Formats: sequence, C-alpha cells, structure tokens
Amino acid sequence: MKPIKPVYENIKNELDSIREGINLIAVTKQVGVERTKEAVEAGIEHLGENRPEGLLKKFEAIQDGAKWHFIGNLQSRKVKDIINHIDYLHSLDRLSLAKEIQKRADRVIDCFVQVNVSKEESKSGILPEETLDFIKTLEQYDKINIIGLMTMAPNVEDEEVLRKVFQDLKALQLDVAEREWPHAPCTETSMGMSNDYLIAAQEGATFVRIGTALIGSESEAE
Ligand SMILES: *Cc1c(COP(=O)(O)O)cnc(C)c1O
Repeated sequence: MKPIKPVYENIKNELDSIREGINLIAVTKQVGVERTKEAVEAGIEHLGENRPEGLLKKFEAIQDGAKWHFIGNLQSRKVKDIINHIDYLHSLDRLSLAKEIQKRADRVIDCFVQVNVSKEESKSGILPEETLDFIKTLEQYDKINIIGLMTMAPNVEDEEVLRKVFQDLKALQLDVAEREWPHAPCTETSMGMSNDYLIAAQEGATFVRIGTALIGSESEAE
C-alpha cells in the first residue's frame, strides 16, 4: 500500500486551500493496527472506527496523540464497552441511545446528531424535520454535549445532489446553533468521505471522514 504521509499532506493541502481548520478524520476501519499506527506517525490526530470491536482493538494499541471518533451505528448494549474510550460520537440518532450514554458515561461526551438528509430508507439518522425537537429533548441528559450534526451523502456521482445534501446539513446546523441551547452549541458539521470530501469542505464541513482515499483497505488487492 502507498505510504500514508504524502497522501495525507496532499489532502491536507487541498482542504487548507478551501478553508483553514477543517479537521481530517482518518477512517481506519478497513486496516489493522500497524497501518493505523502509520497514520498517527504521519501526524494524523483524529481516527475513526465504525465498529466497537475495531475501536477497542486499536484503542488498546494506540492512545497517545490520538483522538477517537466512533462513526458507525451504535447498539445500545455496546455503549458501555466504548463510551469512555472515545472523544466523539458521530451517530447519536435516538433517545434510547442518549439514555444509555447518560447512564454509562463517566464524563460529558461530545456528540454529533446523525441526520438522514437524503431520506434514504437504508440510512440511519434522524429526519431533518425532526432534528430540532430531538436535540431540544436531549437537554435532560447532562452527559451529552451536542457539538454538531453528521450526515452520510448518498452513493451517487451527481455533484449537485451531493452539494445539496451538504448545504442542507449546514443550514440545519446553523439553525440549531442560533438557538444557543447550552447543551447544544452545535458549531460543527461532520460530512464528506473519500468520494465527496472536497464538495463537503466547500459547503462548510468542519470534520471530513476519509478512509479509502487516505488509509486504503487491506482487503483490497495490492
Ligand atoms: C467507512 C466510513 C467512512 C469513510 O468512507 P471512505 O469512502 O472509505 O472514505 C466515513 N464515514 C462513515 C460513517 C463510514 O462508515
């Protein structure tokens, strides 16, 4: 596989030329511990995993200099296994999950509410029109700090379709932020993956989540 450092530097330059301060999360779900260590050594601070097993395995091996993001669906019964190891949760999408976090977390957890902007049935996330009410309800949970909104764009090539999804998430994020709810500063947007991170960055992403284009996949033929 290609060394991570030059690829990382290219992507970082691309992002910096759009706007300073966009956070790059390296999604390591398709690689092992060694390749993940290479990402940290290349200077990447934010690491993302979508399964509790993968997160725990890598968390045990890598802690110094890394911030861990849980980006996948989280079953309530798995909350206790990971919640005190992660820095950010990107997939808060239901009250039962919030309740379990409240019960298990030892400290305040920075969470993104996942929004199903494209309304695909296969996708998890709360619907855009339900997002404000959902976030308002979260004020009862003092272990949850809503730092932003997250979405996954549909798997299409049409740039205009992608752009619209990112614009809609950004508008919703600003709408929440304007309410100035103490439990929901909601200043961030987590959007953009390997195929669409530049569009997401242009539309205001503050966190992009990149796996294949940065870290690669170890199951892929060399
Ligand atoms: C896998 C994954 C990514 C990264 O996808 P790539 O296309 O490999 O960049 C980003 N976000 C989530 C939620 C994922 O599950």
